[in-house]
Amino acid sequence: MRYLYLKTIGTIKQGILEDLIGSLDFLPFKVIKENDYPLFALEPKRNQYYAKKIIEHLILNMPADCEKLIAITDIDLCTPVLTFVFGEAQLGGSVAIVSTNRLKQEFYSLPANIGLLIERLLKVCLHELGHCYGLVHCSNSKCVMYLSNNIISLDNKGKKFCVKCEEFFDKRIRKENYD
Ligand SMILES: [Zn+2]
Ligand SMILES: [Zn+2]
Repeated sequence: MRYLYLKTIGTIKQGILEDLIGSLDFLPFKVIKENDYPLFALEPKRNQYYAKKIIEHLILNMPADCEKLIAITDIDLCTPVLTFVFGEAQLGGSVAIVSTNRLKQEFYSLPANIGLLIERLLKVCLHELGHCYGLVHCSNSKCVMYLSNNIISLDNKGKKFCVKCEEFFDKRIRKENYD
């Protein structure tokens, strides 16, 4: 049996995780927790963490029964060329990382909204998981695989795959898990 691992890094509320698991139910899952922040990936000048460095570290420490691993963290993620990312994944690989930092209304000086946070987190997780299964960005602006690099476009798109992406995703999930 292979599992979808959800790994929390830092402080992620239990309730958020439970809601997320309820929606990512196409594979059996396991949850693991890491309280320490990945200081090896910190860029002190930006007070952000390089997503790719964390992904590389996660790949080296994958549990043997892991099919895909999504790390969920509250730290702010970036890349050398992008000022921030909501998440990052290995295309066609096994590992993705998602940050709740800029999904919180508080980041935009607005009152907290846990329902909205969970919906945004689900969209980013599904998007990054789609990349792990080989999906690229979709031109359908309502599809969860549509590229959203700001919170408005993230809110504007749907939380599901379009018909075309869904078909691709289903085929891949079946192939990788039951062949
Ligand atoms: Zn993407
Ligand atoms: Zn699509």
